[in-house]
Amino acid sequence: MANIRRRELLASLFLASGWAAWEFTSKAAHAYDVAIAPTDPQLGDTLSVVVRPNTPTPSVVPTVTVNDIAYRSFPLSGNRFRALVPTNPLDTPGRLVIRVSGEETTRNLAVGLRNRTFRTQRITLPPNRRDLGTDYEFDRVGQFKAIVSPERYWNGPMVRPSQGRVSSEYGIRRYYNGVFAENYYHRGVDYAAGTGSPVVAPAAGYIRLVGRVADGFELHGNTVGIDHGQGVLSIMIHLSRVDVNEGDFVSAGQVIGGIGSTGAATGPHLHWGLYVNGVAVDPVPWRFAGIE
Ligand SMILES: [Zn+2]
Repeated sequence: MANIRRRELLASLFLASGWAAWEFTSKAAHAYDVAIAPTDPQLGDTLSVVVRPNTPTPSVVPTVTVNDIAYRSFPLSGNRFRALVPTNPLDTPGRLVIRVSGEETTRNLAVGLRNRTFRTQRITLPPNRRDLGTDYEFDRVGQFKAIVSPERYWNGPMVRPSQGRVSSEYGIRRYYNGVFAENYYHRGVDYAAGTGSPVVAPAAGYIRLVGRVADGFELHGNTVGIDHGQGVLSIMIHLSRVDVNEGDFVSAGQVIGGIGSTGAATGPHLHWGLYVNGVAVDPVPWRFAGIE
């Protein structure tokens, strides 16, 4: 009960701040009112760009473009559309120009993306190390990460996928043999717990990927991918066992497998990657504040 009340409170807070932003942006007459949340984002945050066309029944769904990448928007209640724009530790902090276009004139807005310091690790790799990973697993994982389906299945803040302690947080950067890895960041959150401990779905969705070591998932290990809809995806890797099948619909909190150390893992842990339109974002805002 308490949890349900908390969710309702969070939902009403989000709506209250969202409408305050409407008033702020709609002083002048525009083809679209646009509300961007959070208003003071940092690297790793997911930007929620809510567009309300000032036409009663727009025939063209607005597109949101940031850094030449176009993001689809999907209908929300109240004649609004919403696009989710991912950011990550590799982005350049500073001014982000957000272009909204549809059947009427284009609107440009700007938001400042704050820098953020991520923990670093120094890793020593042995010489002549063989890189793990098969074409089969990279193809399957790549196809999964490209899914953008129109329905929204998540509802409210996401659930902690494991009761284990967080052993590695999102965004950690690395030096390999003393050289900074420009393109590496920890693309998820790790939870350490005993082999076989339950792993649950952080939010509702369809199982769109089940990968097994026996089928060539030598890097990720046993893997489950969940489509939460509208470009939001979870990937859970290194599992000891998988309790679901592709095509199943799971609800938030439903057990999907067990913690393991399959694939490239030094000990039993769950790696949860949360992807938004193909980019691994910080799950923390999705877990605590939630995104409508
Ligand atoms: Zn990890």
